[in-house]
Amino acid sequence: PASPSRYKRILLKLSGEALMGDGKYGIHPPTLTRIAEELKEIAQAGVELAVVIGGGNIFRGVAGSTEGMDRASADYMGMLATCINSMALQDALEKQGCHTRVLSAIKMEQIAEPYIRRRAVRHLEKGRIVIFAAGTGNPYFTTDTAASLRAMEINAEVILKATKVDGVYNADPKKDPAARRYRTLTYMDVLKQNLNVMDSTAISLCMDNKLPIIVFDLTQRGNIGKAILGDLGEIGTLV
Ligand code: UDP
Repeated sequence: PASPSRYKRILLKLSGEALMGDGKYGIHPPTLTRIAEELKEIAQAGVELAVVIGGGNIFRGVAGSTEGMDRASADYMGMLATCINSMALQDALEKQGCHTRVLSAIKMEQIAEPYIRRRAVRHLEKGRIVIFAAGTGNPYFTTDTAASLRAMEINAEVILKATKVDGVYNADPKKDPAARRYRTLTYMDVLKQNLNVMDSTAISLCMDNKLPIIVFDLTQRGNIGKAILGDLGEIGTLV
């Protein structure tokens, strides 16, 4: 990218669905490769990059518990799903020649380092892409909350929340042609109007610590770069 980044350290939140491509579940390798290529460009521009991935493409705790599972057990399964996605992303990034580390909130020493805040920061300083796996490590939370928490812990300047639409709308743009996109929103707007940005725990955490969130469309190639380098108003919504 030509212009320098506005941010030195960012946290990107990818939902599990971002890895599905057009599929209904699981991981779509070409989509994963495309995301890895974009992340490589960001890292090469000198931006320190941490990533939190969801697990919804594989397993979601709430869905499991509605089918009769114990909620905590179902949530732990969801956290393991994020580990699978994290390893897939790590592999795709390494194929692009990026240095990466997966840090897991649940210990699994053979495949990931345990999450240690100072170690995460050190990896970032050395230019490694850090992938945070297993969410917060606690049931009843989401990976959105994990993204807010980790962003705070590593002093990220912004959370980039990747979605399938280019920001936050006042109605569903896929159903309502009159739907309009907000360029900026306050945290309170999001909470009061129950806007679909991140869950309320994650939003409150960002609000209390004044951490900005950029909601943008990941399905358009080059958008991650635009979100941190280019004109904000053009590509998404800033909270
Ligand atoms: N999860 C959890 N604690 C966390 C993060 C995630 O229990 O700190 C579980 C929860 O069951 C959740 C699942 O992992 O449904 C997958 O995460 P999420 O739904 O946030 O993924 P996304 O929607 O981003 O794909």
